[in-house]
Amino acid sequence: MRTLSIPAGRILGVEFRIHFVFLLLFPFISFTERTAQIASTPERLTALTFILLASAVAHEMGHALAEKLANAGRRAVVIFPIGGVTVFDEAQPEVTPDWKRDTRIALAGPVTSLVLAGIAALVSRVAVPQASLWPDPSLSSTNLPHAVVWTNLWLAGINMLPAYPLDGGRVLRAVFSRTMDPVSATRRAISIGRGFAAAFFLSGIWNSWFLLIGAFLFIAGQMEERSAVFQSVLETVRLEDIMLTDFATLSPADTLEDALEKAVHCLQDDFPVIRGADMVGVVSKQKILQTLRNDGNGYVQSVMNRIFDIAPKSETLASAFRKLSARNASILPVVHDQQLVGIVTLQNLMHSMGLLAETRKLRNAAM
Ligand SMILES: [Zn+2]
Repeated sequence: MRTLSIPAGRILGVEFRIHFVFLLLFPFISFTERTAQIASTPERLTALTFILLASAVAHEMGHALAEKLANAGRRAVVIFPIGGVTVFDEAQPEVTPDWKRDTRIALAGPVTSLVLAGIAALVSRVAVPQASLWPDPSLSSTNLPHAVVWTNLWLAGINMLPAYPLDGGRVLRAVFSRTMDPVSATRRAISIGRGFAAAFFLSGIWNSWFLLIGAFLFIAGQMEERSAVFQSVLETVRLEDIMLTDFATLSPADTLEDALEKAVHCLQDDFPVIRGADMVGVVSKQKILQTLRNDGNGYVQSVMNRIFDIAPKSETLASAFRKLSARNASILPVVHDQQLVGIVTLQNLMHSMGLLAETRKLRNAAM
């Protein structure tokens, strides 16, 4: 799924992405400090931005470790200044909801931040005893040891709020999911999170950092909701609801030039190859073009892929996605009573999922 973020590598099997708001953090901090008439330097402002980023990444690593221990990992996460948001990966096997495990994973983040705050306090007591760490909780680039300690304390504290998608909100959702289906539980948690977002926005009058938290809660809530809807579409819609029933096929005896001629006249990028009543392979327009260009004309049977998966029409989109990505394929023939009744292509899957998600959003808005 597209998000406004840049990849930052893989840690503990989790793909970390940094959200673009981090780019705004530097101007944000320097503006905040200038209005508060704090004399800082670009180096110190950069250091503070880095402290925020590193603390958020460490916090997420706490979650990732807990996930790995619970065997529920393998996801991508987008890092925001006050925590991370899981990016939904459609190729991922379904993780069955388990409220105890989800609670443990949610709490691992704040615990990590608290431990880091403690370590940072100890280290700075020893290394820079003159730096004052208490009692002022506001972050400033003029006292970096203090900023390391308090960034982690703030991360732990704010994340304990029951404001989804913060960790406290995730615990709340886990509790809701004991009596509700996952999408309703997420929705309920998100609506509570929105209340907190509004409250933070208003508190922005006193402190601009609260504005930042409100913005995070809002954007992240939106992202999570989209994922939840997406997920429910994937798990409930069946291939027969979205498969293409009007499609072109090729014969293994077709020449590549004939095949290309056929391909020009339809929007399909991938074709099932049929001999009599049997499906014997699949081939893509790209493969046909490539072979024509490199080796000249030939027959479809020499370029078609003979190893392919098929799916019954009652299969869910989620399982179709897994089959496609397992083989790195772009077409999935759909069968019923051993008859080819339709095809599902990657292109057509993405397209119909977008449509289905929109219709559900509209339907939910109308309710
Ligand atoms: Zn967290």
